[in-house]
Amino acid sequence: MPAKHFLAATIVAVLASACTDRTGKSTDEAAAAPTQAANLSLPAQQLDSPWFSQGQENVEAAREQVINNTPGAAKNIILFVGDGMGISTVTAARILAGQQKGMSGEEYQLSFEEMPFAGLIKTYNTNQQTPDSAGTATAMMAGVKTRAGVLNVAEDVPRGDCVASQQRPLVTALELAEALGKSTGVVSTARITHATPAATYAKVPERGWESDDGLSNEAREKGCVDIAAQMVALEAGDGIDVAMGGGRRHFLPATETDLEGKPGRRQDGRNLVQEWQQRYSDGGTNAVYIEDQSGFDSIDVAATDKLLGLFASSHMRYEVDRGNDVAGEPSLSQMTGKALQLLDKDADGYFLMVESGRIDHGHHAGSAYNALTDAVEFAEAIRVAMEATSADDTLIIVTADHSHVLTISGYPTRGNPILGKVVVNNSRGEPESVPATAEDGLPFTTLSYANGRGFADLAGETDADVRYGLPVDAGRKDLTAVDTTAPGFHQEAMVPLGGETHAGEDVGIWARGPGAHLLTGTKEQSYIFHVMARAGGLLPQ
Ligand SMILES: [Zn+2]
Repeated sequence: MPAKHFLAATIVAVLASACTDRTGKSTDEAAAAPTQAANLSLPAQQLDSPWFSQGQENVEAAREQVINNTPGAAKNIILFVGDGMGISTVTAARILAGQQKGMSGEEYQLSFEEMPFAGLIKTYNTNQQTPDSAGTATAMMAGVKTRAGVLNVAEDVPRGDCVASQQRPLVTALELAEALGKSTGVVSTARITHATPAATYAKVPERGWESDDGLSNEAREKGCVDIAAQMVALEAGDGIDVAMGGGRRHFLPATETDLEGKPGRRQDGRNLVQEWQQRYSDGGTNAVYIEDQSGFDSIDVAATDKLLGLFASSHMRYEVDRGNDVAGEPSLSQMTGKALQLLDKDADGYFLMVESGRIDHGHHAGSAYNALTDAVEFAEAIRVAMEATSADDTLIIVTADHSHVLTISGYPTRGNPILGKVVVNNSRGEPESVPATAEDGLPFTTLSYANGRGFADLAGETDADVRYGLPVDAGRKDLTAVDTTAPGFHQEAMVPLGGETHAGEDVGIWARGPGAHLLTGTKEQSYIFHVMARAGGLLPQ
C-alpha cells in the first residue's frame, strides 16, 4: 500500500474510534482525550518543515499573550489609521516591503502584523454602503456611525446643515483625553484639516469647510466655524498639544503667501498660526510653530510644551516624493517619533492619532506604487511607536478607515515582483521565462483597479497626482514595452471614472497592549472608540 493511502486509512480509523468511545463518554469528551491520535505519527518531511515548527512556535507565543482587562490600564492610546489601507493594500505592501529587503516577499510581516490581536471592521456609513473618510473617522473618534461627509455630528444632521450641526454635535476621544488632563496629539501626512485628522477635534456638517472660504453663506450667517479655526480654539482641556501635518493654506489669510510661495485661503483675514501662538503665550507656555525640515530637526523636546507643525500648503508629499519638497518635510515615522517624545513628558499619559493620509491618495490616482510605498512608511511609523512604548501601559491600534478597489490576481509565481507583470508557473509548478498573456494576447499586471483614471506610463514620476493632468484612459493597454514597476506606472482600470473609488469590504484591525484582546471578531467601526474609552478610562464609570 502506498504511504499516502496507508495514512488516509489510519486517519479514518482514528476518527472512527473517537466517535464510538467504549467507555460510553460523549463524543466531545472522547475527542478531547489526548491519546486518540497517538498511533498516527507524522513523517519527517512534515515534522522537519519550517512551516510546521513556525506554526508550533506561533501557537505557543499566542498562548503566552497577556490579556489585560483592567479598565483604564491603557495610560496611553495610539490610534494609527492607514487611510484607504484595505486588506489587499496590506498584503501588497507586505510583499513589496519584503521584496525591497531581498526576500520573496509573501512571507514578510509588516510591523503591525506582529501584534497579537487582529479582527475585522465594518466600515459603512449610515447612509452609504461604501463609506467616505469623514463618516468613518467619526465612528472611530466619537463611537457612533454617521453620514458620509460629516464630522462629529449625529446621523440625523443633513450634510451641510449648519443649524442642525450646532444642535447635534458629538464629543471625541481626544476631547475626553484632554478633559482627563492627558496630553493629546494629531499627526497626518494629509492636511491637518482633512477628514481623518479633523475628526479628532472638529464638529462640522461638511468636511469641505476646512477654512472659512469653504463655508456656505448660510453657515457664515448662522455662526458655523471652519475646521482650522475650531482646531486652534479647541476648548477641551488646554487644546491639542502636538499637531503635525499639511494644510498651511487653511490657517493663513488669502493676502499672505507661505515660505514655499503658496497663498493662504482664509477670507476673514485671520492668521491662525499667530492666534494659536498668542493663545499660549500668556501662561508661560512654550508654544512652538515649525514649517519645514530644519524647524523639525531643531525641536527642543524638553523646552517645547506645545507644537504646531504645518509642513505643506496642502497635503504633505508622498514618501517617495519627499526629496522634491521645496522647504523639506519630515517623514511620517519621524513625526511619530517626535510626537511620542513630546507627549510622553506627561505623567498622566496621552492620546495620539497618527494618519497615513496618502495611501488613499495614491489609490485614487491609480498608482499602486505611491499607495504601497506610503503604506510601507506607515508600517515604519508604527514600528517606531511599538519600540518607543510598552505593551504594559500603552494600547496601540492599527486600522484603516475604508478599503480601495485594488486587486491582487492572475496566479503569479512565488516572488514575482508585486508591481510586475504576471509570470505564471508551468505544468511542473515552476516559473515560465516570460510574462503570461491574456485572451487578448497582451500581458497583464498582478495589481489592477476595478475603476479609476486607468493606465499611464509616467516612468520616473514619483508624484501620483500628476495623473490628474492627463485624460482618463480605462481598459486594456499593451504593456509589453512598459516597466510596470516604475514609480510613474498607473495600473489599468476597468470602469472609467475621474478618480478611483473606495471599496466597501471590511478592513483589518491590529492591536497590542491593555484592551487589545477586545479588538477581535467582526465589529462595527464605532466599536473602536468604545475599546479606547474602556481601556483608557476615558468615560466616567
Ligand atoms: Zn479617499
